[in-house]
Amino acid sequence: MSTADLSLRDRAALLHPTTHLGRHAAQGPLIIERGEGIHVWDSEGRRYIEGMAGLWCAALGYGVPELAEAAAEQVRKLSYSHLFGSKSHEPAILLAEKLKELAPFSAGKVFFGHSGSDANDTQIKLIWYYNNLIGRPEKKKIIARDRAYHGVTLGAATLTGLAVNHKGFDLPLDYVRRVRCPHFYREGLPGETEEEFSTRLADELEALIVKEGADTIAAFIAEPVMGAGGVVVPPAGYFEKVQAVLERHDILLIDDEVICGFGRTGRWFGSQTLGMRPDTMSLAKALSSGYQPISAVLIPDSMYEVLEAGSKELGVFGHGYTYSGHPVCAAVALKNLELMQQRRVVEHAAAVADRFQSRLRAFADHPLVGEARGVGLIGAVELVSDKASRRGFAAALGVAAYCQARAEAHGLIVRAMGGDTIAFCPPLVVSEADIDELFDRFARALDDTAAWLATQR
Ligand code: PMP
Repeated sequence: MSTADLSLRDRAALLHPTTHLGRHAAQGPLIIERGEGIHVWDSEGRRYIEGMAGLWCAALGYGVPELAEAAAEQVRKLSYSHLFGSKSHEPAILLAEKLKELAPFSAGKVFFGHSGSDANDTQIKLIWYYNNLIGRPEKKKIIARDRAYHGVTLGAATLTGLAVNHKGFDLPLDYVRRVRCPHFYREGLPGETEEEFSTRLADELEALIVKEGADTIAAFIAEPVMGAGGVVVPPAGYFEKVQAVLERHDILLIDDEVICGFGRTGRWFGSQTLGMRPDTMSLAKALSSGYQPISAVLIPDSMYEVLEAGSKELGVFGHGYTYSGHPVCAAVALKNLELMQQRRVVEHAAAVADRFQSRLRAFADHPLVGEARGVGLIGAVELVSDKASRRGFAAALGVAAYCQARAEAHGLIVRAMGGDTIAFCPPLVVSEADIDELFDRFARALDDTAAWLATQR
């Protein structure tokens, strides 16, 4: 089918997720047709470096034959079965064991879902259920951060701290409380060090807890590195200071590793890179390198034991999805993790991260770039109209969107986000030469953007 036909039919049939619907109706889609390694091709045969690994997920890259085979084999053997009412199957059991083996904390049990959003909904429900069972029915509020992204289901969207996911949806619901985003470039005070900034954030957190009453607050949820909120790497000492506050007030730390999990920051989990001690963990995306929709929630045995004992009081544990632990998803995720181990993909990511970070940070010298930041193989540049005052651009100008479009014209997919930030999150299998090519293309897009802006002033 021609691109023109597909474009018309797309607009007649699809309601696109997380898309400016007015602009989409006018401009139509970019239709991606196939992928191999770190590249994807569009319907006109143009090749792009997938500099975002899709939506931060294609860790092993595209078209890995072993993953296609794992899916086909499982479809032939048992295309569907479930885990309700004590039924089980081998792919789910083996994947749960693999996650327990890899987890950087003592994860006792694994609950499967199919998206990061449902994993975070599960987190909320498990913690409420748990607190009810241990006789703390008032301890229910969850603290999340401005600019956090935890998904878009009602529960998870409430934790998300981005206006675009709330406006018009009657959200957030009332159990969330919000603290400042740990964005040193934007939120740090003149003369303040990163350590001092971290101390201030921990003090603000504690003041909020005291004001609300610690006996009303169940958990604090955090991404090790914030993704969709603009790739925000927390300042030095942040999690150490925040955790001291949480521990003082008996508040659980939910670690949302949906983006950072499985090598993105140069270690298996972002919590290892950023010094977090999670109580529970959400995983998705790179768990299957995006080959199948699957997520997981990891909880400690101490929590599981309460749930198990609770069956005397509450009967059936009434939470679960038709596709919890779907055998094809589980088989593909297991193969993905085995390949990551065999091919030492996390070690590779850590080894090429120096090149990635040094090429990325060199953009800080560009007249349009206020800050270039990141860790491991994730990063972003924040575009500003005035470097000295850090002033941004008028939103209506759409500077980051323009830059993203120019990158596409140069054969590179990146993501423009709020605050005129452009994110980079390539497949973990990128080589140093790929990284150079990625940033060479981005440099052209940035220069095009500067030239265009000069005509707008
Ligand atoms: N948590 C984080 C940190 C995410 O980045 C995302 C998705 N970008 C989610 C949760 C939600 O995942 P999903 O889109 O699979 O529901």
